Amino acid sequence: MRYVVWIAALVLTSLVGCQTVETTERGLVGIDRKQTMSPLVPADAFNKAAADEYQKVLQAMNKKGQLNRDPAQVERVRRIAKRLIPNTSAFRADAPGWAWEVNVISSDEVNAWCMPGGKIAVYTGLLARLKPTDDELDAVMGHEISHALREHSREQASHQAVEGGIINIVGAATGYGGLVQDLGPAVLNVMFNLPHSRTDETEADRMGVELAARAGYDPRAAVSLWEKMSQLEGKRSPQSSTLSGGKPPEWLSTHPSDERRTHDLENYSERVASLYESARKR
Ligand SMILES: [Zn+2]
Repeated sequence: MRYVVWIAALVLTSLVGCQTVETTERGLVGIDRKQTMSPLVPADAFNKAAADEYQKVLQAMNKKGQLNRDPAQVERVRRIAKRLIPNTSAFRADAPGWAWEVNVISSDEVNAWCMPGGKIAVYTGLLARLKPTDDELDAVMGHEISHALREHSREQASHQAVEGGIINIVGAATGYGGLVQDLGPAVLNVMFNLPHSRTDETEADRMGVELAARAGYDPRAAVSLWEKMSQLEGKRSPQSSTLSGGKPPEWLSTHPSDERRTHDLENYSERVASLYESARKR
């Protein structure tokens, strides 16, 4: 009987116990959507799981000779990240102190991502096929970093935990700790299988242009990057099997209409133009 009560209590916690959180400050771009997180997916445990999965990805790539093969590329993405990271403080004070990592993966796929807690990968396919300027590459990285600042992946995993809450809890008769230890697959699922929502993409777009401007990169580069990306998508060849399996490249994951996205990026890069001007004078 006591066991039943315990399960009922956990089910209740998972279903109604979601906490409303504010992962980030509004910034000049005014991101203020209320987010909910499940106590089944605590930030510390989720970020730890992400860090572990990131190391596994790097090891696997290294073994295949697909990690950081071109020192100039590695230097380039790390240099851009180094300018961006201090500016994450505009959205959350703790972020500059995260254990950030930036690596280049050899893959034809046009992709880049940032795992929870600041674990970044840029694919050589993006560098080779988009030929981004530094400003454009910054736009990609700022967008990916913004997903991590907003903890979009944890939010997604939270919603999944709540939807599957009862099964998870009954299955995890070993106790609460058993659930927490099992977050690695959840990280991989949200990173590589599930697309972000349009709302998440829009938030990452807007925060990305602000990060760019604060770092002294031209925020309008997000517009030209997106145009290059959608042109490429029009003549995209079938994807070879890659890390991300069936998921389309992150940047394209939800297909807001090109026009709408371009318009939004233009609008928001205009809003942060003064930040860009003052960053350039420094
Ligand atoms: Zn995105």
